[in-house]
Amino acid sequence: MTSVVLYNQINPLTAVFSRTHFSFPMSKDFPTEICCSVKHKLKSRKQEHGQFKKVTRVRSSVAGGLQVELSESGSASRPPEKKLRVLVAGGGIGGLVFALAAKRKGFEVVVFEKDLSAIRGEGQYRGPIQIQSNALAALEAIDIDVAEEVMCAGCITGDRINGLVDGISGSWYVKFDTFTPAVERGLPVTRVISRMTLQEILAHAVGSDTIMNESNVVDFVDNGEKVTVKLENGHCYEGDVLVGADGIWSKVRKILFGPTEAIYSGYTCYTGRTLILGEEGYIYTYKFFHRYRVFLGHKQYFVSSDVGGGKMQWYAFHNESPGGIDVPKGRKERLLKLFEGWCDNVIDLLLATDEDAILRRDIYDRTPIFTWGKGRVTLLGDSVHAMQPNLGQGGCMAIEDGYQLALELDKAWRQSVKAGNTIDIVSSLKRYENARKVRVAIIHGLARMAAMMASTYKAYLGVGLGPLSFLTKYKIPHPGRVGGRIFIDVAMPLMLSWVLGGNGSKLEGRVLHCRLSDKASDQLRRWFTDNDALERALDADWFLLPVGGSTSASEIFVLSRDEKRPCIIGSVPHANSLEASITIPSQQVSEMHARISYKDGAFFLTDLSSKHGTWITDNEGRQYRVTPNLPTRLRPTDVIDFGSDKLQAAFRVKAMKTQHKSTHNEDETAALQAM
Ligand SMILES: Cc1cc2nc3c(=O)[nH]c(=O)nc-3n(C[C@H](O)[C@H](O)[C@H](O)COP(=O)(O)OP(=O)(O)OC[C@H]3O[C@@H](n4cnc5c(N)ncnc54)[C@H](O)[C@@H]3O)c2cc1C
Repeated sequence: MTSVVLYNQINPLTAVFSRTHFSFPMSKDFPTEICCSVKHKLKSRKQEHGQFKKVTRVRSSVAGGLQVELSESGSASRPPEKKLRVLVAGGGIGGLVFALAAKRKGFEVVVFEKDLSAIRGEGQYRGPIQIQSNALAALEAIDIDVAEEVMCAGCITGDRINGLVDGISGSWYVKFDTFTPAVERGLPVTRVISRMTLQEILAHAVGSDTIMNESNVVDFVDNGEKVTVKLENGHCYEGDVLVGADGIWSKVRKILFGPTEAIYSGYTCYTGRTLILGEEGYIYTYKFFHRYRVFLGHKQYFVSSDVGGGKMQWYAFHNESPGGIDVPKGRKERLLKLFEGWCDNVIDLLLATDEDAILRRDIYDRTPIFTWGKGRVTLLGDSVHAMQPNLGQGGCMAIEDGYQLALELDKAWRQSVKAGNTIDIVSSLKRYENARKVRVAIIHGLARMAAMMASTYKAYLGVGLGPLSFLTKYKIPHPGRVGGRIFIDVAMPLMLSWVLGGNGSKLEGRVLHCRLSDKASDQLRRWFTDNDALERALDADWFLLPVGGSTSASEIFVLSRDEKRPCIIGSVPHANSLEASITIPSQQVSEMHARISYKDGAFFLTDLSSKHGTWITDNEGRQYRVTPNLPTRLRPTDVIDFGSDKLQAAFRVKAMKTQHKSTHNEDETAALQAM
């Protein structure tokens, strides 16, 4: 019968597949014609079973390799080229990493991806993703060259100070050391990389002949010997195993276990990415010794990460019902209202981001399940354990899954060769599941806990207490903040150590090593415990920026780091070779009002017995008068008032890295575009 088409050959005709395969440059305009003469429009699953039976079988056998039976149309058997044909639904991080791992083990792989250009809803901007030490090590174990490429394209975050910060004051709450757990175990140091770059690297490594773009998996049948996948366009493909790596809204999962609701986290998430653009052609980047910070708040929190190339990525989470829609061009304005009164680091990022670069999505996860598959079908990545993004481990877990699954299939293959049996795929999938599910469930729980912590943080007594919220003005530290900190100080290093290093022993064949290029500053350990040392080490210029509303301050001043040349602030110029001069023409400013001097990375303000005095408001909102003739340490974000009434000149102290736009070379610009 000629109506039965050999669309499940073990070695599909390149001419057939290449039309739908992903090739660079990525295009959505691939011709979709396929040489199937029969389009299956199957009406019910019952009927499909009948139809699937007609599909020509491909049987894996050990002794003779793969054996292809003659089709009813009389096609000849092909010589076996691969030992097992693995079908993968979904070409996201998990699907591609697994495909790579399986190919490196010698399996034949086909990845069906419904739309390569829409990675996990990241839309046109596709934010960067943090790939942590555990996942980078798994990638190294899969393919050291690909891992190297990923690491070179990424921006190291693990060699800096990351941690939790009070959203209002910007003060450190807890710092995370992700460097030590990595290097102690001979693991690579955590990086952030553009999702698009990551996907391109993975897709190139997997090979364009393996990935079928515009291939939406809508159904499958596992008959115990083979799995047949059906695409939306009616085409069917047969293999030995099906891996559902099709993300949080997984079709494969739904068919396996029936529909279940994803769990709404309670948070909608706005994301944006920006250069810190300042006035007068400066690009302000926070090239500090920290990379990744979570700004804690009540029912909202904010995450920022240095993603390299002078760009910062941010995520703003707000507790509200799902499905909210913003008025056109209203996202930035809404965020500025929601985060009003938060520290400069948050507000500056929001202000610097273009409205059109702000995306919004509701955050969901899925409660972990302890059975990941049935028969010859299993799940991987978000399809089985979508988690909240707060630990930055969702994609990392998908990478670990990919490594483990390929390893178990390979072990099963080798065992079958040794014993002369048919490969026991079902048991190998169970072993994969068993190796992964506990670790993944714990990390999933930690991600939920991290979200809870980030959004239930209360800096002061009275926060979130409705009628008692007046108490906040007394700035009494909330007991939860104090207790939470003690808990985190103890628990965090243990947790990080296990999350980053806990899978390392399962990576076969990976030699423990660290890159010299991953080396962190000798001062790193000190910065974890010594805020003062960290501040003194800031790689930034210090500015006095006029504060809105101040009538007599309109100019921006850069503070000099010359220890021998302090700066005199007064209402008239002080031309003097030993001192710089800042002139503020105001009735509240005395002729010789104050001096700002620099020593060992810190700036000090001395009031020179001025008539109207000098006042400082710190990042906790406390205002105090500067004692005359006594040098007082300045901090970034302090507000200085020269004078005491409405006419005073008010400036905010800002520490920023500046780089003139014109010094940005073309390579850098290209790199920025790519993020
Ligand atoms: C705001 C945010 C920030 C995050 N940050 C991080 C981070 O820093 N680090 C980290 O590790 N993780 C992070 N994550 C989580 C991470 O994005 C996911 O865990 C990861 O993308 C999961 O990979 P996956 O391959 O399992 O699924 P996905 O990336 O969702 O890929 C699934 C793929 O399957 C395709 N597909 C879906 N259905 C079908 C079908 N029926 N047929 C064919 N193809 C199909 C989709 O098009 C998609 O390409 C973050 C998540 C969010 C929301």
